[in-house]
Amino acid sequence: MGKALGNHILVEFMNCDPRVMNDAASIERDMVEAAKKAGATVINSTFHHFSPFGVSGVVVIQESHLAIHTWPEWGYAAVDLFTCGEMDAWISFDYLKKCFSSDSYSAIELKRGSVNLLKRNDFDISSIRTKAQESWKNPDFSTRNVWFTDKDQDQALSLRFTGEVFHDVQSPFQRVRILESYKYGKLLTLDDMVMTTEKDEFHYHEMISHSAMFTLGDNAKNILVIGGGDGGTVRELLRHDSIEKITMVEIDQEVITACKKHLPQIACAFDNPKLDLIVDDGISFVKNAKPKTYDLIIVDGSDPIGPAEGLFSVEFYRNCYAALKDTGILVSQGESPKFNDKVFSELNFTLKEIFGADKTKISLFFVPTYPTGMWSFQYGIKGDLDLLKIADVAKVDKFVKEKKLRYYNSDIQIASFALPNFVKELIA
Ligand code: SAM
Repeated sequence: MGKALGNHILVEFMNCDPRVMNDAASIERDMVEAAKKAGATVINSTFHHFSPFGVSGVVVIQESHLAIHTWPEWGYAAVDLFTCGEMDAWISFDYLKKCFSSDSYSAIELKRGSVNLLKRNDFDISSIRTKAQESWKNPDFSTRNVWFTDKDQDQALSLRFTGEVFHDVQSPFQRVRILESYKYGKLLTLDDMVMTTEKDEFHYHEMISHSAMFTLGDNAKNILVIGGGDGGTVRELLRHDSIEKITMVEIDQEVITACKKHLPQIACAFDNPKLDLIVDDGISFVKNAKPKTYDLIIVDGSDPIGPAEGLFSVEFYRNCYAALKDTGILVSQGESPKFNDKVFSELNFTLKEIFGADKTKISLFFVPTYPTGMWSFQYGIKGDLDLLKIADVAKVDKFVKEKKLRYYNSDIQIASFALPNFVKELIA
């Protein structure tokens, strides 16, 4: 048979759990995980639930695809594991057999595309590659219809991207990837969640830093940043001359490395002498922090799964409270009242419990590449500080002009604390 271009395993899974066979979301999760377990690079997945029952779906991988169609009424799934390259799809087979609780199956392995039977067309790969590179840079010409999707079980945000993966490392904490999207440029994803993009990062980084900095004024000297591995938050903070020292505690060196290399305009302040960059778990760092040390603590953490789960705990915020000076501000990445309202409101209740209801504030702002686009920062205040009173508006406007800020200004600081009724009800 000689060398084959692809390997195709056709699987009949029988006596599967009918409920699983009818659950599109869990089948998709299992199929994507099955691909990852075999070392595949998942590009995209699409699954459809038929009415009244049955699911069809495909996971496109860099190494080709995994596909499935189910008949829940027969407890049966027809699965195709089509791969090219070194990937061992039997690993996916074993994983799916367990997921579907299938106790009887048949599988046939076929070599596809035997080169003995094929005639190779001598493409000048380099000219094709050059043309491809030219075309994918120009969305109008690009034919690549590859989408990156950040989603939960009910909602998703998809960005068309060039298919180019500049960085893809599974760190001890999370999968760190740098992709290139047509609309928002390069983006950092952690475990397939968008963290920051070239074209809208300023929305987030300007709003997480300047409202608190101008409220503290020249007293903002000693700052603690938890997370923030892309570097955008410290970049914005270091625009303020009052700062004497920033301690940044990021758990994952891989994030810093990836951003320094591929997002240099965001990760541009890591060599600033005022910055003490520590690669460690922010939860234990705050637990061991000296009381009343910081004027400002910024929690620029990822979503509450994996390493960041503890960044939403009562104990963590009690420790932050203790580490803040008697006059100080805590700002935390507060999730979205529209995407994960439970986490959003729970964090608010936690801060109210620790700082007091009248010392807890929520600022809403927009990040187009976060699911729903509506996001928040949640504040806890110690001492006599008022985020709604800007001491010197002219000074703020001059700073905004000089630093060419593109989101934050004195009006938006105030406006961002005006909450829509549904949010007021959510945190009532
Ligand atoms: N803007 C993003 C968001 O809204 O989700 C956050 C960006 S920033 C990249 C999040 C950083 O928090 C990541 O680099 C992640 O590694 C870091 N992180 C997560 N858990 C952490 C922990 N326990 N201690 C320190 N850093 C942590």
